[in-house]
Amino acid sequence: MKKLLCLLAALCMAGTMVTALSEEDSSIADIAGVVMITYNNVPWNFPIDPMEMDPDTIFMVNKHMFLSDDYVPDDLVEMKKLKLDKDGNNTSGGVRMVDGTWQLQRECAEALVALCDAARAAGHELYLKSGYRSYYKQAVMYENRLEKYGYDDGWVTKPGASDHQTGLGCDVVPKNWTDRGMNEDMAKEAECQWMAAHCAEFGFILRYPSDKEDLTEINYEPWHLRYVGNPAATYIMENGLCLEEFQMQLQAAVEEFLAAGGPSFLVEGFVQVSAEDKYSRY
Ligand SMILES: [Zn+2]
Repeated sequence: MKKLLCLLAALCMAGTMVTALSEEDSSIADIAGVVMITYNNVPWNFPIDPMEMDPDTIFMVNKHMFLSDDYVPDDLVEMKKLKLDKDGNNTSGGVRMVDGTWQLQRECAEALVALCDAARAAGHELYLKSGYRSYYKQAVMYENRLEKYGYDDGWVTKPGASDHQTGLGCDVVPKNWTDRGMNEDMAKEAECQWMAAHCAEFGFILRYPSDKEDLTEINYEPWHLRYVGNPAATYIMENGLCLEEFQMQLQAAVEEFLAAGGPSFLVEGFVQVSAEDKYSRY
C-alpha cells in the first residue's frame, strides 16, 4: 500500500495531476465491523478501496458503452497450447484450445492458465473457445449478419460493444461442447458449475449471469468469463452482481467522492465515457 501511494504521488508530481497523497492523508478505520476508508478526510463509500482496483481491468463495455475502433489492448499475448508431462504438470504454461489460437491481455491470460490448471486438478478439463476479437473482426461479423438478414436481429454484438474487444473476455467450455453451438444448457455441466463457483478466486466473473439479462441485455452465457481482477471479482460474485450493477455503484461512489472534494487522481480513471457508436443507425 505504501509503495503504491508513493508511486502515485510520484506520478502525480511528474504529471499534470494536482494532488499528492502521503500515507497520513488516508485512513482505514474498522468501526463495529464496518470498514470506513477516507482520503483527505473524504469518505470513500464503496466496499473496495480505489487503490485496490485497476481501471484498466474493471471497465465495462456493452450496448451503451462503446470502445473506439482504434482500441487495441497494449499487452495482448498469444495463448500457448497445453502440454502435460507424465505426472500431469503443465509444462508449457498453456491451455486447451478448441481450434486455432487466441490472444488475451497478459494478466487475464495468466489468470486463465491458473484457473484451467486448478480445474484440471479438480477433475475438469476446460477449453478456450474464444478470446480477443478486434473491432474490425467484430465489424465483419456484424456486417455479414446485417447482409444476411437485412437488419440487426440482435444476435451479433455491434462493433465496439463486444466484451471480447477488451482482451479480458473469453469463452471457456467443457470438452463435449467444443464442437456444438453454445446455449444455456451448458450450465448443467459440472465444468461450468465449477467455473461459476471458483472463477472469482482467479479474478474472473461470469459476465452474463442468468438472472441479469435485463441489465446486460445479453442472454445467459455460462461460458463467458471476464477478468476484472480481485477483489472486484470476489465482490461481484459473492453478491450476485453483474458488471453493470457494479459499475452503477462505482460511478455513484466516484461522483459522491469528487463532489465532497476527494482527490480526483485517485478515482478519475474509473469514470467511463463511451466512444461513438458508429453503427447507431441500425
Ligand atoms: Zn463470449
